[in-house]
Amino acid sequence: MADELDRVSDLEMAYRERALNAHLTRVTEVVIIDGYCNDCGEAIEPARLAAVPGVVTCIDCQHRRERRA
Ligand SMILES: [Zn+2]
Repeated sequence: MADELDRVSDLEMAYRERALNAHLTRVTEVVIIDGYCNDCGEAIEPARLAAVPGVVTCIDCQHRRERRA
């Protein structure tokens, strides 16, 4: 279990770095990857964060976005 937590932590650090780089290069959509949903602010499940690299929304909001699209 500890190994898996370390791996998730490493991924999170990579995401933060990517988000920072995206911010520095001024991409059009500012995406904040901090483990919380960008739409509703709820915490995103760690399993979802690990399974979907760069995910920025919880499952509910992702479904909402897909319906809207
Ligand atoms: Zn959400």
